Amino acid sequence: MSEPAIEVEHLHKRYGDVVAVDDVSLRVEPGEVLGVLGANGAGKTTTVELIAGLRKPDRGRVRVLGLDPRRDRAAVRQVLGVQLQQAYLHHALTVAELVDLFASFYPDPRPAAELLDLVELGRQTRTRFEKLSGGQQQRLSIALALVGRPRVVILDELTTGLDPHARRRVWQGIEALRDETVVLVSHAMDEVERLCDRVVLIDAGRVVALGSPADLVRQAGTDGLEEAFVALTGRELAMEEDA
Ligand code: ATP
Repeated sequence: MSEPAIEVEHLHKRYGDVVAVDDVSLRVEPGEVLGVLGANGAGKTTTVELIAGLRKPDRGRVRVLGLDPRRDRAAVRQVLGVQLQQAYLHHALTVAELVDLFASFYPDPRPAAELLDLVELGRQTRTRFEKLSGGQQQRLSIALALVGRPRVVILDELTTGLDPHARRRVWQGIEALRDETVVLVSHAMDEVERLCDRVVLIDAGRVVALGSPADLVRQAGTDGLEEAFVALTGRELAMEEDA
C-alpha cells in the first residue's frame, strides 16, 4: 500500500475534565476527500487541529505525508494548507496584503488573482480583513489555505455562512483539486455527499463510523446520509451557528 496522506493512531486529547478526542485512529489516502461529521462539541475541530499540529496530543501519533506535524513543523508547513480560524489572522491587513504575506512563505505560490477569483474576492483586494463580511472572511481563509499549492488541505466549516451561489463556487474550487488530499469538517450533508469520498462520524470524541456516504447509508439502513448520521450517532446533526 502507498504511504497514507494522513495517518492518525490512538489520538487522545482532553481539556481539563472534557475528553475532546478519545482514541481516534484513521487513515486518509492520497487524493482522497474525507468529510468529518459530528454534533456540536463532538471533537471535530480538535481532531483536525491535532492533525495540523496546532495542538499537542496527550497521547497518540499523527503523520502527514510521513511527517510529524509538531516535530517537523517547517516541512509540514510546505505541504499542508489549513483554513485557519479568523482569530489567527491579522485583522488590520488588507486582502491583498494577507494573500501576499501567506504567498511569501512558499516557493511557488498560486497567483493572487487566480486565488481571489476562486473565492470571488477580486474586488475586495484593498479592503481590510476586519471590514469584510463574515462570508468574505470565510472565503479569504479558504484562499489562504490554498496559496502554497498544498498537497494536503484541512478545511474547517468550509461553507458555513456562505450564500448558495458562493457555496457552489467554493465546491467547484474544491472539486478542481484533483491530486490534493482534503479533510473537510462540515455540517452540511449536501456538501459532504457532493465532495467527500469517505466520511468519518465522530461522537463524544470517538469514531463511530467510517466509510463512503453510500456505505454509511447502507450500514444504517436509512434512506439518506442525514438519517444515517442520526441512526449511527443517536444525535441530531450540529447546527450551523452563523448561517
Ligand atoms: P463544533 O461543531 O461545535 O465546532 P467540534 O466537534 O468541533 O464542535 P471541538 O471544538 O473539538 O468540537 O470540542 C470538543 C470538546 O472540547 C467540546 O466539549 C468543547 O467544549 C471542548 N473544547 C474545545 N476546545 C477547548 C478549549 N480550548 N478548552 C477547553 N475545552 C475545549
